[in-house]
Amino acid sequence: MACKKKEPIVKYKLRLTCNIEIIQEHIICAICGQPIYKNQKLTIDHIIPRHHGGTDDTENLQISHQICNVIKSDLFPEEFEPRKKELFENALKNWKLRRTDKEIITEALKRMKSR
Ligand SMILES: [Zn+2]
Repeated sequence: MACKKKEPIVKYKLRLTCNIEIIQEHIICAICGQPIYKNQKLTIDHIIPRHHGGTDDTENLQISHQICNVIKSDLFPEEFEPRKKELFENALKNWKLRRTDKEIITEALKRMKSR
């Protein structure tokens, strides 16, 4: 049997030169609205996902928790917002999460309920 040629693994590495000046005491996650603490992973989120043609321009970028960005996935803001609670609950219930990520999601859900 002929050996099938392996598909190349396509990796995309995000290279951004960021000039973010932090003037607040806390950096606030643009997705869940909570402060991002030192022990939590931070990421740059594309408001309009790159997958949908979003650019790397600063107007299209926001800082968020890494886990919040993963939950948001490549949904448009108008698709994500109405499903936010459901998606956070789903992640909490079904995903294998690190303790810090679990705490972020739990707190985010509490905030959504109290609103
Ligand atoms: Zn967050």
